[in-house]
Amino acid sequence: MKIAVIGQIHENGIKVLEEAKFEILRINNFDENNLKKQLTDVDGIALRTASINASILLKCSKLKIIVRHGVGYDNVDIDYLNQNKIALGITSTSNAVSVAEHVLTMFLYLTKKIKLSDKLTRSGNFKNKSSLPNFFELYQKNVLILGFGRIGREVAKRCIGFDAKVYVYDPFIEKQFIVDQKCIPIDKEEGFKIADYITVHLPLNKSTKNFISTNEFSLFKENLILVNTARGGIINEEALSSALKEKKIAGAGIDVFEQEPPPNNHPFFNFENIIMSPHNSALTLECRKRMAIECCETITYFLNKRKELNLNNIVNKENINII
Ligand code: NAD
Repeated sequence: MKIAVIGQIHENGIKVLEEAKFEILRINNFDENNLKKQLTDVDGIALRTASINASILLKCSKLKIIVRHGVGYDNVDIDYLNQNKIALGITSTSNAVSVAEHVLTMFLYLTKKIKLSDKLTRSGNFKNKSSLPNFFELYQKNVLILGFGRIGREVAKRCIGFDAKVYVYDPFIEKQFIVDQKCIPIDKEEGFKIADYITVHLPLNKSTKNFISTNEFSLFKENLILVNTARGGIINEEALSSALKEKKIAGAGIDVFEQEPPPNNHPFFNFENIIMSPHNSALTLECRKRMAIECCETITYFLNKRKELNLNNIVNKENINII
């Protein structure tokens, strides 16, 4: 059987495919026409960030499974996969810790104003430390987590370690479960009003697009630090730009953008009160190894060793009748 690996993945993942004796096709040209040509006879796809739309999928007559190296799958046409009984996998156990650490990094970097301290120290102004603006502790602050799935829960544990008060908005999760994790369930609007920190861990879909926009910014406290490592577009970028410009919030940490890479003249680049990263919160070395292995094992188990398959990794198991 033939497996396409679209985009670079850690060699430990490739080894899994080699050991399973698959023919491996590595693709680094994500142009639609190239993908249409190269994917005609593949049985499985290991996929990083390239978009796989219905017109590409139409050409994949032998395809049985696509596995995302990651957990978001908004770059794949899931309706087409469901209709054609093609499995869609994710690497559900690999990346929550890495993303959660990134969130805490952004919280602390912004709240301790590390950029200003570093600048002051390098510029020979060590003695002027009292000229720096106030900076703060995470201790006993209100953290609001939007979306209490794999990543939200790992963030919660780490914030609890800092003795923060952790509030959760996720209407799809039992309140008692949230309480059992030492967190406090809260309504969206109430959470927005009391939060000192907000971190977004929602999927991007029709109901979460512009989840935070002008109206929500009007509810926030002035000292709010807002972090998005989920998907661009969940926070409206125009509304965030004006909040940063008018200093309606204290700062933002952004790993994901509506358009990636963001254009050179993106308004975020004008502001000091934002820290950005290039959608790499899950790309620590440890996490890349885990994702590559889990992605390739999921393909292998689905095609050859069904008993070893972690069914939680198959997003559309109900639609393709493998439960
Ligand atoms: P998950 O599916 O485990 O959790 C998502 C949670 O959001 C679920 O508990 C669900 O109930 C909740 N939810 C869904 N719609 C909601 C709504 N309208 N209101 C409130 N809650 C809602 O997902 P996860 O693995 O924790 O990932 C979260 C996000 O992080 C996804 O968007 C994913 O694509 C993104 N992500 C980004 C990176 C990165 O590199 N930056 C890496 C991994 C995941």
